[in-house]
Amino acid sequence: MSITKSDIAIIGAGPYGLSAAAHLRPIPGLDVHVFGEPMSFWERHMPTGMLLRSPWEGSNLSDPKRRFTLDAYKVFSDNHLSSPVPLERFVKYGQWFQRQVVPDVDPRKVTHLEKVSRGFQLTLEDGDIWRSRRVVVATGIASFAWRPPEFAKLPRGLVSHTSEHRNLSCFAGKKVMIIGSGQSALESAALLHESGADVEVIVRMHMVRWLWRYAWLHTCKPLARLLYAPSDIGPAALSHLVERPDWYRRFPRCLQDSWAVIAIRPAGAAWLKQRLDSVPIRTGRSVVSAAPSNGGALVKLDDGSTHPVDHILLATGYRVDVSRYNFLDIQLLRSIRRVNGFPCLSRGLESSLPGLHFLGAPAAWSFGPLMRFVAGTGFAAQRLARSISRTSN
Ligand SMILES: Cc1cc2nc3c(=O)[nH]c(=O)nc-3n(C[C@H](O)[C@H](O)[C@H](O)COP(=O)(O)OP(=O)(O)OC[C@H]3O[C@@H](n4cnc5c(N)ncnc54)[C@H](O)[C@@H]3O)c2cc1C
Repeated sequence: MSITKSDIAIIGAGPYGLSAAAHLRPIPGLDVHVFGEPMSFWERHMPTGMLLRSPWEGSNLSDPKRRFTLDAYKVFSDNHLSSPVPLERFVKYGQWFQRQVVPDVDPRKVTHLEKVSRGFQLTLEDGDIWRSRRVVVATGIASFAWRPPEFAKLPRGLVSHTSEHRNLSCFAGKKVMIIGSGQSALESAALLHESGADVEVIVRMHMVRWLWRYAWLHTCKPLARLLYAPSDIGPAALSHLVERPDWYRRFPRCLQDSWAVIAIRPAGAAWLKQRLDSVPIRTGRSVVSAAPSNGGALVKLDDGSTHPVDHILLATGYRVDVSRYNFLDIQLLRSIRRVNGFPCLSRGLESSLPGLHFLGAPAAWSFGPLMRFVAGTGFAAQRLARSISRTSN
């Protein structure tokens, strides 16, 4: 066992951790170390064949001089990049970005993080110990996959969350019921259907909401610029507020909360619609119970109908609750002020435990829905770097 030290440890090498490193490393005199497998959530927990829902302008990782944008990567990769951005290409872009800004990422997992005098102690998966004055937690949403209780009694072979799958072709020839109505549900349905599964989608809402229904509103400049911010998160006008977290957080909490719901309500990209023409989508229905039956599952809906299926795929999203980051020490967790599972963060995305910062989805309660998307990496990394450079001078 060895003990190594750094000024700042970033846990997580996804879009937020890598962007944070890109902004922190140029600060003179700071030693920044990044842990985690670069882009692993995108590489292992999203389905092959997926296309990014976020627009080109909203899919850039952030570096201070904007040298490593998607445009720059497009040039580097001989123009082999189109919009919507295919998942596989986005992963390659993230890995290229990583090689440019943090070629020395330490891929080891952090298994324990605790507070010690004058900083933090990280235990790594191989037992090595790391000490750091500050820690930036950028470990994403994988720990927050939400599984509704109705499905708790089913064995794991009969029910799974979308985050558990990389390759949906294992369901070819099977009858699969998808629960959910967001991008993940609808895109999984399209991919499953195209790989030969017999799919149906159960949607609690009375209709499926399609994004970009009127594509010209988003693409016809300058009208598009007037209505939507480049990241295109949320409906017209609100989109501009979402893009400016410093303004967003000044509004009364009740408004912030209701806008947050509106900005990220379940919806599918319009380009999926045609791919789902022959997939049955039952709207206004929810699952009452699901039980094992004849090697599969028997699902009962709230209209009394029963449906035998081979597998249930939960596209039920993610619910942020940092207590589910199982590497956080219980004492450390207790000293973080939280609301509904989100840490309350100050301007430098710092928690109530000085020196401990959170980026990505956990920052959404304090800075709004932008933090749930790649488009928020620029804002988060700049604020973090600004606040740290002030205190380290
Ligand atoms: C199906 C799906 C589609 C999506 N599509 C889009 C989209 O089109 N556009 C968009 O903007 N957003 C999209 N999102 C949201 C997307 O997940 C986030 O925008 C993005 O991943 C946030 O980046 P992050 O760095 O916070 O987290 P992540 O990308 O999850 O990165 C977290 C990193 O932390 C590492 N890590 C975790 N735990 C540890 C540990 N204990 N020790 C060390 N390392 C650790 C992981 O290896 C990982 O590399 C999508 C999400 C899903 C589920």
